[in-house]
Amino acid sequence: MKFLDDFHFKKQFGQNFIFDKVLLSSIVNSLNFNKNTNVLEIGAGAGVLTEVLAENFNKVVSFEIDNTLISHLQTLQQNHKNLSFVFNDVLKVETSSIDKMFNGEYSIIANLPYYITSQIIFKFLFESNNIKNIAVMVQKEVAERFCAKISTKAYGIPTVLINSFGCCTIVKNVPRTVFTPVPNVDSCVINISVDKNKFNISNKTEYINFVSNCFKMKRKTLYNNLTSFGYDKNQCINVLNALNLQQTIRPENLLAEQYVNLFNTLTNNNL
Ligand code: SAM
Repeated sequence: MKFLDDFHFKKQFGQNFIFDKVLLSSIVNSLNFNKNTNVLEIGAGAGVLTEVLAENFNKVVSFEIDNTLISHLQTLQQNHKNLSFVFNDVLKVETSSIDKMFNGEYSIIANLPYYITSQIIFKFLFESNNIKNIAVMVQKEVAERFCAKISTKAYGIPTVLINSFGCCTIVKNVPRTVFTPVPNVDSCVINISVDKNKFNISNKTEYINFVSNCFKMKRKTLYNNLTSFGYDKNQCINVLNALNLQQTIRPENLLAEQYVNLFNTLTNNNL
């Protein structure tokens, strides 16, 4: 392939590309997204997924950090009037500016650079006002953490936060052999269906910090974590009792809904 002859893969940008258009089309179709969907792609790479997106959806905006890909990607753009590129680091662009690139709701579909998977997902999950779905290829272990069942080893801060603002499902397992170059991990496509109003959270920024603090000492009880970051011992005992939670409960034993109740009750200081 001509592209491969000239291109040097850059490990520092997480460049593991997929050239199999049939596989990419089948993944995109299995998402069952409406044809009118506006799509944000992060990391166009060689643009094979980008073309599938442009052929299937309404408007596609694709970010790419690697300037050596500009001329190759611009040739793809000539065939797709609904496609535009932003040659920039997606983490350096304000989420509100990205929201403005679309007229209303949009979904992310991307084979993410793995060195910044969580930063990208949480940037949009927490900051965007118009994000509807985040359907992305991630490292298998990351997918397992995001979709972990309560009280398992993988259950942690990302699981609780994703389930507080949406719902995560594993769409497909993808073996490492479909990537060029072949990475040393397997992958999964996940879809986070975003619902910012799933729960009534009194202060979202404080809630995110609260959940992180609750897991600071994962081996300790939730009660120990709460008191170690400043909550009054008696107040904690009262709140845990009121929510029917035992004083010995551990951070990985609570559902997102229970974290929201705990946070709202402690914050409103009404016990
Ligand atoms: N979409 C292509 C595919 O499926 O073959 C490429 C996927 S590759 C895993 C990730 C892509 O993200 C690379 O092209 C890389 O250069 C790009 N990238 C890495 N960091 C980025 C960033 N901060 N902002 C935008 N793109 C980035």
